[in-house]
Amino acid sequence: MNEPVALPAPVQSLAVRVAIIGGGPAGLMAADVLSSEGYDVQLFDAMPSVGRKFLLAGRGGLNLTHAEAMPAFMSRYGGFAEELSTAIAQFDNEAVRRWSSELGQNTFIGSSHRVFPVGMKASPLLRAWLNRLQGSDGRKPVRFHARHRWIGWEGGDWVFDTLQGHRHFTFDAVVLALGGGSWARLGSDGAWVPLLEGRGVGVSPLVASNCGFDVQRPWSDHFRSRYAGHPLKSVALTVLSAPGADPDQALFRRKGEFVATDTGFEGSLIYAASAAARAQLAAHASAHILIDLLPDHSLERVLLEVAKPRGSRSLSTHLKSRLGLDGIKAGLLYEVLSPETLKDERALAIAIKALPLVLGASRPLDEAISSAGGVCWDALDGQHGLKALPGVFCAGEMLDWDAPTGGYLLTACLALGRKAGQDVHRYLQAQLAVSRPT
Ligand SMILES: Cc1cc2nc3c(=O)[nH]c(=O)nc-3n(C[C@H](O)[C@H](O)[C@H](O)COP(=O)(O)OP(=O)(O)OC[C@H]3O[C@@H](n4cnc5c(N)ncnc54)[C@H](O)[C@@H]3O)c2cc1C
Repeated sequence: MNEPVALPAPVQSLAVRVAIIGGGPAGLMAADVLSSEGYDVQLFDAMPSVGRKFLLAGRGGLNLTHAEAMPAFMSRYGGFAEELSTAIAQFDNEAVRRWSSELGQNTFIGSSHRVFPVGMKASPLLRAWLNRLQGSDGRKPVRFHARHRWIGWEGGDWVFDTLQGHRHFTFDAVVLALGGGSWARLGSDGAWVPLLEGRGVGVSPLVASNCGFDVQRPWSDHFRSRYAGHPLKSVALTVLSAPGADPDQALFRRKGEFVATDTGFEGSLIYAASAAARAQLAAHASAHILIDLLPDHSLERVLLEVAKPRGSRSLSTHLKSRLGLDGIKAGLLYEVLSPETLKDERALAIAIKALPLVLGASRPLDEAISSAGGVCWDALDGQHGLKALPGVFCAGEMLDWDAPTGGYLLTACLALGRKAGQDVHRYLQAQLAVSRPT
């Protein structure tokens, strides 16, 4: 893993025009590779400044990557692991940590093996990175064009909407790193989809990933007002493969925590289950889940405790004293179960271990942490260039892949940005070799 790729010899200040459109982590990494090779790189972004989603990601602790071994790491990309394997093999979780350290931000491994910069934030890393791109290490500086929204082509020109009106540019090679479709106010709005489709590039629809879900039957006013915003800690979540299906054949089962919202659930465990839940919603218009409120207790133990005599104590007091079930966990039982089930000791114990709920919809794409879908892999040539648009390469979240939170998103975006930069370098070297007189 992480073998350096053999690249052609560096070129100094090549008089070719290279553009990166999109200044998120993928675009900045492509710019880093190409500027370090001596190209005249121009980076365009629709927003007044670059890296806005990266900065947001740092708000709750920038989870750069994950420290698990590569086979487990790659398995998080599910059906896209093969497509991503070349890029990530050349820029894996250890490379991400080295890159961050080179920029002055050492990393540490958190309790769940997630990797964070010591300062937890994205801003010092971004600042150091932009300094490097602006030539602090002696390279030819990348030229940044903020407030330049790419809106399409006119003839061979790339057209940008700017505060001064439309500006036209021509380039020898372009990396598109336009992001997915969530958090449009930070710049990645998916407006590129029809532009590329119009030029014959296959794009799988952008859908919400790592997102919250609404429950099919809305919460009661009582539950919503008391428990929206409350965390469900140390629970296990199962996504069934069909309504009423065998939990042993479930699509997803994992321990973790999530949060009740006004309309359903959000949070890390729900995000991790989002691909499975999304597949169920697509197939059945609903996703049937089970919540194990006490994953460290066996059903027998729960039944034993529930069945203990409670004398004159209320059921709530009994559940709290025998099993520690209170707050939102007890609230959920009362919200979901009928009075008959609550009175039936065995049925109640079964429900504590597998509380059934139905999700009716995912939250809108714009609220999601990331989007699945994007430029189809078969629209790319052997490298990351578009078959339909020679000299145009794609990187980052705008490609069709998906991963849970845990640092897998940023690792793949950085690795794909690096790969696109290297592919552009190879492409330009090949072009130069063809045009050079023999
Ligand atoms: C709240 C939140 C927290 C997150 N936390 C983490 C985390 O801790 N760890 C992790 O791994 N991932 C995290 N992510 C996901 C991660 O931030 C993204 O996957 C990553 O930023 C995608 O990188 P990108 O370069 O592909 O696209 P983006 O970062 O989305 O950048 C795309 C850029 O393209 C620009 N652009 C778009 N269209 C145009 C156009 N037409 N013309 C010019 N410019 C354009 C945009 O302005 C933007 O600057 C988080 C996301 C969110 C929303």
